Amino acid sequence: MRITKTSISPIELELKEPFSIANETVETAMNVFIKLETDEEITGWGCATPDSVTSETSKTVTRIFQSGFQDILIGADPTRIQLLNDIIEERIPGNPSAKAGVNMALYDILGKKAQMPLYRLLGGYKEKIETSITVGLNPVEIMIQRAKEYVSNGFSCLKVKCGMDPSHDIEAILGIRSAVGPNVKIRIDANEGYTLEKALRVVETLEELGADIEIFEQPTPAKYLYALKEITAQCSVPIMADETVFTLRDSLKLIKMEIADMINIKLMKIGGITNALDANVYAELAGIPVMIGCMNESMGAMAAGVHIACAVKNIKYADLDSAIDFKNDVVTGGASYKDGFVIPSEKPGLGIEVDL
Ligand SMILES: [Mg+2]
Repeated sequence: MRITKTSISPIELELKEPFSIANETVETAMNVFIKLETDEEITGWGCATPDSVTSETSKTVTRIFQSGFQDILIGADPTRIQLLNDIIEERIPGNPSAKAGVNMALYDILGKKAQMPLYRLLGGYKEKIETSITVGLNPVEIMIQRAKEYVSNGFSCLKVKCGMDPSHDIEAILGIRSAVGPNVKIRIDANEGYTLEKALRVVETLEELGADIEIFEQPTPAKYLYALKEITAQCSVPIMADETVFTLRDSLKLIKMEIADMINIKLMKIGGITNALDANVYAELAGIPVMIGCMNESMGAMAAGVHIACAVKNIKYADLDSAIDFKNDVVTGGASYKDGFVIPSEKPGLGIEVDL
């Protein structure tokens, strides 16, 4: 099989409502669709969601796709994913979300060629995974209201954004705990917003007052590795690294230096499924569980996260809720939600239909 044609389509998708975390507020999200056509009438779809975290834009993704990826892809056998990933990593530095979009399109082709849903082709460890749903930063009453709505819609795991103002955060998280009761899991994510001292104060206060936090994600700035390591050492709640870990090399460093208890791997940070699976193996050997998270991903990108999260054992956590947030997604299929779980499509490949 050969790739005969490639195309790229950036689309700005509108969110149902503005979404705020400690370092930004967004109302729309760029999703850049990548289409790979082959000489066997199989078409692969992928999607890149560049943003400030990956230091990319739809323009940089389009430019590098046209100037770097196209030459590598046209005429190549799309099923030789390890070889193509190696060539891409060698020739194209950075640009992780562009790499992720291309890489998942290759896997989509592989799955369609094998006539298997991707998660089964990659190992099929689980048929569904519980996902958190994110409560963005807002005034306390609104955050509590959102949390109640999500729980009444069947979700039993919340990821509450924090990291702006400790007293607001403590009030919001305690308010949410008392509103949703003891059986809902609460994870918190500061998106680098606290200092070491503030992070420890927030989590100690929350634990004393019975908030029962399952996971504390990226409390401190990404670049301060020792601050994160210190919190991991001192804190009774498991610490998850997100912004600290981008590349495969970052994953290995985090594991070797014992900086965090868990890693949040996102396909857009690490450059796709191939790299994510490798990082997961490092983590598994070190006894570190992995979460698969997402950016502001339409179902076009998020479906790949669902498939990989279900494929292997050590991906024990999922934060795969972004596709719910769009007013008019251009993708159908891929995955569905039921009772707080996200379930990958049983159609071949990613199982997505794209209507551009
Ligand atoms: Mg995070």
